[in-house]
Amino acid sequence: MTTEETLILVKPDGVARGLTGAILARIEAKGYSLVDIRLVEPDRALLEQHYAEHEGKPFYEPLLEFMMSGPSVAIRLAGNRVIEGFRSLAGTTDPTTAAPGTIRGDFGRDWGLKVQQNLVHGSDSPESAARELGIWFS
Ligand code: UDP
Repeated sequence: MTTEETLILVKPDGVARGLTGAILARIEAKGYSLVDIRLVEPDRALLEQHYAEHEGKPFYEPLLEFMMSGPSVAIRLAGNRVIEGFRSLAGTTDPTTAAPGTIRGDFGRDWGLKVQQNLVHGSDSPESAARELGIWFS
């Protein structure tokens, strides 16, 4: 089986709350391999590319503002079925209802904002992973 790669982000809320280490520990404990890691302060142009599929949605502008509010940790992560494996570790999008035991379920909550601050991003398909890795690790 070909080893897969994916893009993981510890989003600005995760970095600001000092949860990067705890999140990395879960990724490493699961057994995936860190291939590259960097702190990135994305500009609007990068985020417009990354979140192109959400343009026009009500949360789009708050999402870009949130993602520009501080640095994110970008991770190139490798392993068999890492894309679905990390999304399972992360939990569902809404941190209030994400299952306990997941990153979003254990560390996230609703802060009453227009955007869901849910700590992490993980690519959702091999095509997205290739596209997003090109954006964050160019
Ligand atoms: N998001 C939001 N409100 C929504 C849906 C999404 O604020 O109703 C934000 C949230 O931070 C999410 C990101 O937009 O992680 C991208 O949404 P997507 O549906 O791709 O969720 P994900 O794949 O990150 O779970």
